[in-house]
Parts: sequence; C-alpha cells; structure tokens
Amino acid sequence: MVTVLAPMTGWVAPLGEVPDPVFADKIMGDGVAIDPTDGRIVAPCNGVIATLAAHAFTIRAASGIEILTHVGLDTVALKGEGFKALAREGQVVKAGDPVLMADLDFLARNAKSLISPVIVVGGEGLRILRRAENCEVVAGAFLLEIAALGTAPEAASGTATVTAKAVVASEHGLHARPSALIATTAKRFAGEITLTCRGRSANAKSATAIMSLGVHQGDEVAISAPSRAATDAIVAVVAAVGEREHRVLAPALAPRALPSNTATRIHGIAAAPGRAVGVAVQMSGREIAVVEAGRGIAAETKALREAIAQLRARLERTATSGDRVRREILSAHVALLDDPDLVAAAEKKIGEGKSAAFAFRSTVRVSAERLRTMDDMRMRERAGDLVDLERQVLALLTGATAAPERALPPGAILIAEEILPSDLKSGIAGFVSSGGGPTSHAAILAAGMNIPALVGAGPQVLAIREGGELLLNADDGFVDLAPDAAAVADTRQRVAAAAARRQREQSEAVSDCVTADGVRVEVFANLGKGAAEAAEAVGLGAEGCGVLRTEFLFMDRETPPSEDEQFAAYQGIADALAGRPFIIRTFDIGADKPVPYLHFPPEDNPQLGLRGVRTASVWPELLTTQLKAAARVKGQVRIMLPMITAPHEIRAIRTVLAGMGASLPLGAMVETPSAGLLADQLVADADFLSIGTNDLTQYVLAIDRGHRALSGQLDALHPAVLRLIARASDAANAVHKSAAVCGGLAADLVAAPILIGLGISELSVPPPVVPRLKAAIRRLNSDACRTAARAALELETPEAVRALVKANFVEEDR
Ligand code: PEP
Ligand code: MG
Repeated sequence: MVTVLAPMTGWVAPLGEVPDPVFADKIMGDGVAIDPTDGRIVAPCNGVIATLAAHAFTIRAASGIEILTHVGLDTVALKGEGFKALAREGQVVKAGDPVLMADLDFLARNAKSLISPVIVVGGEGLRILRRAENCEVVAGAFLLEIAALGTAPEAASGTATVTAKAVVASEHGLHARPSALIATTAKRFAGEITLTCRGRSANAKSATAIMSLGVHQGDEVAISAPSRAATDAIVAVVAAVGEREHRVLAPALAPRALPSNTATRIHGIAAAPGRAVGVAVQMSGREIAVVEAGRGIAAETKALREAIAQLRARLERTATSGDRVRREILSAHVALLDDPDLVAAAEKKIGEGKSAAFAFRSTVRVSAERLRTMDDMRMRERAGDLVDLERQVLALLTGATAAPERALPPGAILIAEEILPSDLKSGIAGFVSSGGGPTSHAAILAAGMNIPALVGAGPQVLAIREGGELLLNADDGFVDLAPDAAAVADTRQRVAAAAARRQREQSEAVSDCVTADGVRVEVFANLGKGAAEAAEAVGLGAEGCGVLRTEFLFMDRETPPSEDEQFAAYQGIADALAGRPFIIRTFDIGADKPVPYLHFPPEDNPQLGLRGVRTASVWPELLTTQLKAAARVKGQVRIMLPMITAPHEIRAIRTVLAGMGASLPLGAMVETPSAGLLADQLVADADFLSIGTNDLTQYVLAIDRGHRALSGQLDALHPAVLRLIARASDAANAVHKSAAVCGGLAADLVAAPILIGLGISELSVPPPVVPRLKAAIRRLNSDACRTAARAALELETPEAVRALVKANFVEEDR
C-alpha cells in the first residue's frame, strides 16, 4: 500500500474534468487533478525524482510506483517560464520536500489551464483504493491510497528481433502526452519493447521512461520489439502525433496517410460476428467544440432543458419501432437523460456561469468516468451510453452535426475510439473501435443488426486512412487495410450467401433440431428480461428456457422482490413458453451481479465470495420466498441452483422444497471445478445438470471474468474446461439424466461439434442465436463430433481446439 500526499494546495477534481483527453481518458494513468491556489509544489511521496522538466516531475517510490505531477496543461510550451526548480533529477526526496515553485499568475495568463493532474503512471497491476476528490486539500495532506496488485504479466517474454526508426513529429518532443500514447500502444504487444534516442534507451511501455529520454521534435528514435506488428504500430504513433493534432488524440491520427511500413492487418476482439468489405470512415474527430462561458443563467438553463426535451422526444419516437433489444436500449437512454442528479449537476454549473453545452459535457464526463472506474465490466461499458447522450445533446445545443446525422458512403466501416449506439444505422457495413468492450450496448445492437464489429483493436486503427477499402473479418478478429482483389471478391460472395442463409435459418428455426444422422439436440433460450423476451425466443425457435437469470428480473430496486411479484413475473414467462420446459435459476447475486437490496460485507475477492446458493446462508428468506413463488407457477417448471460445489447443498434445498410441499425437479449448475469433479456424486441428488461455462472457465483458469486485462484470455474451449464438461456429461448420461450447457460456450458455434461429441443434448443460448445454432447442428454428424471431442480432450490449448474444429467441420459464414 502506498499513500500519496497532495503535491500542492488547491481544489481536487476528478481526472475526467481535465480538458485534455490524455489525462481525462486515463491514457497516462489513473489519478486526480488539483486546481492549485498556491505555487509551492512538493514531493507527493518518498522516493527519487525520476524525471524533472520545468513544468512536471515524476517521483519513483521504493515500491516501484511512479507518481507524475503535471503542473497546468500545455505548460510544456512555456519552456520553463513561470517555473523555478527547487530540486534536481535523481535527487532522493521525502514526501513534502519542495520540488518546484510555480508562478500561478503567469500560468493563469499563459497556460491553457492551471489544472494539474497527479497521476499514478505505469499503473498496471495497481489500483487506487481511496482518493480525495471534490474537496480542498493543502500540500502534504492525504490524496491517494494505492494498492499494488502485483505487476501485470507480459503476455510472453520476447527478445527484440525487429527494429525500425521514426522521426518525432510532436512540436515539443516526447513529453507527457505523446509518451503516454506510445506507452499505451506498446502495452498492447507482448515482450520487451525499447525506444532508443541519442544513445539512451527506455522501456516503451513506460510513459515516464520515454519522457526521461528528453526526445525533441525532429529527433530520430529507434524502436526495437519482438514483432513487426509492434514496431509498425509504434512507428505510426511516433511519426503521426503532431502537437496541434493530438490535443484530441483520435482526430490527430485519423486524417493522416498511413506510414508506408504500417502493418496491413490489425487484430481486435470480435464483438459481433460477420465479415464485410467497405470504406473506412473515421468517426473519432467528432468532439464538438463548446464555449465555456454562458450567456446568462436563464438563457442557458432554458437551452439545456429544451435540448434534453428535444432529444428525449426523438429517442421516444425511435424507441417505438425496431426490435426489442433496440427499444430497450433506447428506453434506457431516455432514463439516463431524465436522471435528475445529472440535470441538477449540469444546471449547477450553469449557475456558476458556464454555458449549457460546457456544463452538460463536464457533468456527463464525470459520471462516465465514474462508470469507467467501476469493477463491473458491464457498468464500465455503460459509459459509452452517457457519452452518446452527451454528443447528441451537444449537437442540439450547438447546431453541430452529430455523427448519426452525418452522411455516410454506402458500405461504411466506422472507426472510432468507441462506437456509440447512435452511430449504428442500417446500411453500415461494420465497425472497428480502438477501445470499447464486447458487451457494450453498441456491440449488442450491432449483433442484432448483423453488423460485424471488432472492438479493442488499439490506437493504430485511428490511423487508418479515411476512404480506404477495408476487409473486416470479425469472425477471425481482424481488419485488413490493403486487401487483395481475390480476398475482396471472396468476402463479397460470402456476405451475399450469408444474408440468404440467415433468411433460410429463420424460416426453419421453429422445427425440432436433429443432427444430419438423426441425433436429437434441444436448443433452449437463456432468459432474464421477462415475458416479452420469452415470447420472442419462442418465435425464434427456442424449445424452452435453459436458464432464467432471476436476479436480472429484479436488479434496479431498493427492496427484495416479494413472493407475489416474483410469481407474476415467472408465470408471465411460463405462459409465453406455453408448456415448454422452464428452468428457473435461483438468485445468483453477488460478485459481477450485485443488487442494491443486499448489502454485502466487504470482500477482497467477490468472485470467490458470497454469491449464488451461498447467499442463502446469510439471507435464507430470499431463497425460501423465491422457491415459494416458483412452486406456484403453472408450467413445466424446474429449479436450478447456481454455484453448487457439493451434493449436500442440493439436498439442503430439496429439504426446503419438501418442507413447503413442493416437488419440483431440482438441478445443479456445474460452474465450479468442484462440481465438475464431483459430477458423479451430484447426479445422485440432482435431477439434471447444466454447465455454466462462464464461471467454470473463470474458476478453472483462475481469471476473474471481469478482469480488465486478463478476461480476454478466457476461452471456454480450453481443454481443462472441456475435461470437466466431459466428466459432467458422462456422469449425467450414465444415469440417464440430462446434461445441458447454458454458459456462453453454447452460443459459440465452433464449440457445437465438441459439446455434442461430449454427449451434451441440450444447449441454451441467447434468443437471437437460436436459429443459427439449430441450422449449424443440423449440418453435423454425431460420429464426427465424438471423434473430434475425444481428440480435443488431448490437446493443450483452446487455440488448438478451435483449429481442430475448423479443420474438420465446415463453418458457414454469416
Ligand atoms: C455461467 O456461469 O456460465 C452461467 C450461465 O451463469 P452466469 O453467466 O449467469 O453467471
Ligand atoms: Mg454462472
């Protein structure tokens, strides 16, 4: 644990309020900003002064943590004027020792802003536990508490084998912002990456190390890295980041021609499947310029209210059409827009003399920033929704053309830091984002609209040339920047065939599903929204509900749902399922699914803590009320228990059911390694098993499913996970009980032959996947599936399993 003290006296604001995306978007690292009221700047912790420029310095603490204090914004341009150094680089200092004296009057007149970020740099594996924020501090008072979580692992150690050179474009050389951008880019690649200039070398993954090289505009830097892709990406950034342009990073890179030796294939995370050939359209230069000062409180308040009302009306109009998912997302946007706290905070800023646009933007950014720092990945991904609203309100207030209104060329492939829901309209061929997550609303919408999407592709996508032809293959997770004619023709043909196939799949979806050699496989739907979703699932061919995530039905409320409320919700779904099997999973609250009405004790590892059936030991009534409600439902109801680790947990719940005179079928989820290993024991007490591969994979691989850096490595086709699935399936089949898979692996079409080959006879997937999965199963031969499954269990990696399936089964394109 490291405590960081305030290096100056002033008002502490969240980093999101800094009007510079390098700091506000935490590209440099996490921290806070101080609006100084006194020019004396002191060391925020004990350590050595690792870098000291006139306007900024870094202290390296004994633990290796580095704290950057950057006095004012764009102060590098002052070339030291207005600052006096009171210490020197390399000096050992104690917290509170004087380092700089800043002439605040001079800075106020000559710098872009006085606001001074204090950042934990190179902060991978570090987490800020506590921070002072929205309060006055005096120099030397508490500012941050940092936990060192251990160094983030390098994906692979590698020695530098590829070298490249680039000339620095940035007017002030490699100071804080260009260095941060280079470090962010470098961190995307495995192995050691070094930047060398005038005989001195630095780790390219450390912004402060780069800064310490003292590189000037026009200097040539050498980059060495283990791969060509890494050197290409860094060369692109070093050569492309000019001073004026990178004030807003994304547009900086957008209009520039791609450097000649830039990689022609960029990899990312598939967020919506499919392929496309199209024209690159950079969306990132869309920061709408706003004036800070208002034209009077009354006029600005009126303008803000009118803009919000106008957008609300537009969203409500649009929310009455389109599919259910789209309607729900737009309704959620209306609710966000109506958030009284958001509007009140913006109006408060107007009261302080700000313009409506400035006030709304800074308020939204603080909230978005809060979301981005949350542990729950789904909450982090909601930040994009707020930014989307901000952009639309600002467009209405300023008359600027918001991106959704911008005319796009036919077959546009959109490129941005993050694609926002309002970017998506029919006619778009695909999207690629440098950041963003696979479960963001934009990704969900894209999947529903059959728009292939790649996210997390890194900042180099922002350098893709506007108007260039791109080949996007989201199925295999890459975009080609210079596709050859044959690849383009092949993709076009696949896209046309896939559209025809989708139509056919939909028309065949409602009939039963058997493999080509006659083995019956049931395809169920995972539900969590209510009766309308269940009806839609049935229409898409779902033969039942394989898991109702009951916690999702009652998320946003302050009190637990009553028995009657639950009964009504469950009965509505049972009616929509019209006699089809209906598996109600008892509440799986905790870890990544917290609810406001249960107050959990602090836990160091919530994923290993109180969740699933374990919550019944603390809140027994929650479970009994739920069981009573489920027992009243008329339909083919089965109960399923999450996070089971041993048979006695099933027996205990069966006793509770018996005590209330209910004898519903009772199943266990296999989502802990223990449940997989003891599956033969579980089936003595459980009527059925359902394998939750999302949790099973996180526990088998010891990677938190919400982990920012590592969750991308969770692949349920890992042979270790497959061995547990095989064990559970064999155990259930041996006693003629069913083993289903309801985790995300069931919806992964590559997995279908393996799961069927392992003896799984029921797959439960999100409703939109049902038609395609059924069509894929109909093409399979069960003998070939068994052979492939046996072979998969002997492989070492999920990649090898995927390659095995690709080599043995023809996957049809979307
Ligand atoms: C799973 O873990 O695979 C599962 C289906 O449960 P959830 O995703 O709701 O935790
Ligand atoms: Mg689970």
